[in-house]
Amino acid sequence: MNDLQWYTVGDARILKIQDLMLAALSPEQLLPDWDEATALQIYPRRPETLESSETKVLLSVHSWLIKDRGRNILVDTGAGNSKARPAALYFDHLQTVWLENLMRAGVRPEDIDFVLLTHLHVDHVGWNTRLQNGIWVPTFPNARYVFSRAEYDFFSNPAHDSVRNKTSFMTRIDSVDPIISADLADQIDVDGSEVLEGISFHPTPGHTPHHASVVLKSGVEHALFTGDVMHHPIQVCVPEWSAVFDADPQTAIISRKWALNYAVEHDAAVFTSHFPMTSAGKVMTYNQKRGWSSL
Ligand SMILES: [Zn+2]
Repeated sequence: MNDLQWYTVGDARILKIQDLMLAALSPEQLLPDWDEATALQIYPRRPETLESSETKVLLSVHSWLIKDRGRNILVDTGAGNSKARPAALYFDHLQTVWLENLMRAGVRPEDIDFVLLTHLHVDHVGWNTRLQNGIWVPTFPNARYVFSRAEYDFFSNPAHDSVRNKTSFMTRIDSVDPIISADLADQIDVDGSEVLEGISFHPTPGHTPHHASVVLKSGVEHALFTGDVMHHPIQVCVPEWSAVFDADPQTAIISRKWALNYAVEHDAAVFTSHFPMTSAGKVMTYNQKRGWSSL
């Protein structure tokens, strides 16, 4: 094949499909409770999480491709191309090579069977659609797109069309509504039950009101796709530090602890949405303290 870094979980194979890298915020801006002394003490190797000036945190934006039981599955779809995001300029009118990266893995858009969405933010649903002849059409015409019904309802309710949610409303219109119109959406209740063979959505609210994390079980092995439960590896060590993007920081802490406990109890491979480098790892325990170990 080629040099792509596939992970194996049971019989499933998992690959990151890169969309873009961001270096917009300092650690203190990303994590408002950041304390430099604490950070240096518990996470001394942090230059690898910073861009070259060592002042801004590196945030990856990507999808995860899963090949499992004959199915091609995507978890989240990045930011997408050509989309107007006047209130989120890092995502405005992007031209990335995400689709080429997918094809390099030997998968064409029409080969995707399922698209699983952890939540409906701008950097997670963008490649759901692409522009053709001035119209947003589903990028994956043969896929079922699976996401939380309550999350969709939240970002459809005019009462929630606030400054904070402005981009999410624009995103819903060009990246989610066309999927529903094309009758490709399966809106689900997020309750931990199996929605596809080996796959379940678990409630991890806080970042958004109905955010979900996705579990894949294959044989005795578990993969946990955390979505935006965490934005930085230091949150494995200090789950009490919520991100500035978390709509409800206190609820986000509870969900972060749940996800970390799940990862430890099931020895799960953890596939994050925004960590830099490989973005995948395990939650390890050293001297009764937790830490992140990249895979
Ligand atoms: Zn995100």
